[in-house]
Amino acid sequence: MAEHVVIIGSGPAGWAAAIYASRANLNPLVFEGAITEDNRLRGTLPLGQLALTTEVENYPGFPAGDLEGFLDNSISSERRMIMPPHSKEGVSGPELMELMRQQAINFGTRVITDDIVSVDFDASPMTLNSLGGETVEAHAVIVATGASANYLGLESEERYKNNGVSACAVCDGALPRFRGHPCIVIGGGDSAVEEADYLSKYASKVSIVHRRDELRASKIMVQRAMDNEKVEVVWNHVCQEVLGSEEEGVTGVLLTSTVDDSTMELEASGFFPAIGHTPNTEFLDGSLAINDKGYVQWPVPHRTNTSVEGVFAAGDVADDNYRQAVTAAATGCMAALDVERYLSAQGL
Ligand code: NAP
Repeated sequence: MAEHVVIIGSGPAGWAAAIYASRANLNPLVFEGAITEDNRLRGTLPLGQLALTTEVENYPGFPAGDLEGFLDNSISSERRMIMPPHSKEGVSGPELMELMRQQAINFGTRVITDDIVSVDFDASPMTLNSLGGETVEAHAVIVATGASANYLGLESEERYKNNGVSACAVCDGALPRFRGHPCIVIGGGDSAVEEADYLSKYASKVSIVHRRDELRASKIMVQRAMDNEKVEVVWNHVCQEVLGSEEEGVTGVLLTSTVDDSTMELEASGFFPAIGHTPNTEFLDGSLAINDKGYVQWPVPHRTNTSVEGVFAAGDVADDNYRQAVTAAATGCMAALDVERYLSAQGL
């Protein structure tokens, strides 16, 4: 029998949609993503981008404080054991996501730990195929697959992935190869500053290399970086090549100035690109209209409808502007309400 609604993705948009859909008795099924090496490298493991961050200071409702007891009571001991230790400073990204996941399950959401790899939105009901070989039919679908970190696309960057190149300081920053050594972060947004701040716990020094003379990151994050003695900014430079060898991995970078033709080398054992994100839409294979930046299009303002009837989009996969946890959760809620109205209009 076809599902009322299948939700693809397990970030704040997916769980908020699941919480609302399950409370509306739509019995939602969430494909939270598969646990594979490929997903680890692309940053698309279950629980999304927030699971790759540390403290979340701007999600309303979680001021700094000790949440330990609440986490112990809310999350199953099995999953609690594999979560990073609580920082005592407020909520962390992984904690927030586990709490949202549990909240959705508490209202009856069913969760499958697998990827959706292809879809047929022309079929009626629509069909979705998983990496594990399952085919699911659905009357409505919410696409909430988020976005993944971009790499510069240099051949040398590709060569040293897993050998000094990483797009996730939180996942890899504590590795021995980075401890006590200089590291480079590329970019000038909140991600770059956050990565640098986190890496400074382990690295001897962190150089943020930015192509302009002004950071894009929010003022509070910039101030934190500027106050951090281990963090410096190399202004007006781009990375031309990641330097290294087969045996040692990354040993440095070759930078080119953006104001003249000069070049410089910096020594580093870690290279962390933090230059923005690309929405995870590959599995859609062109079946939904996208905008000029590659994000799923919301054709009607203030609605989560997509170009296909019965398919809705929420969170970063469709948001090229705000891309915050709270806005993703908000559009997840909107998508569930839009689905509820859609199904009821269909008499389903
Ligand atoms: P972003 O804001 O789009 O910043 C990307 C940065 O990378 C920009 O500074 C850009 O330079 C630079 N860049 C892009 N392509 C480049 C290239 N090929 N070579 C060199 N530099 C390049 O992306 P983000 O930092 O990932 O942030 C995405 C969203 O998540 C934002 O809305 C941000 O506020 C949010 N976020 C929030 C937090 C938080 O609140 N704790 C943490 C992380 C992210 P230009 O500035 O010159 O364009």
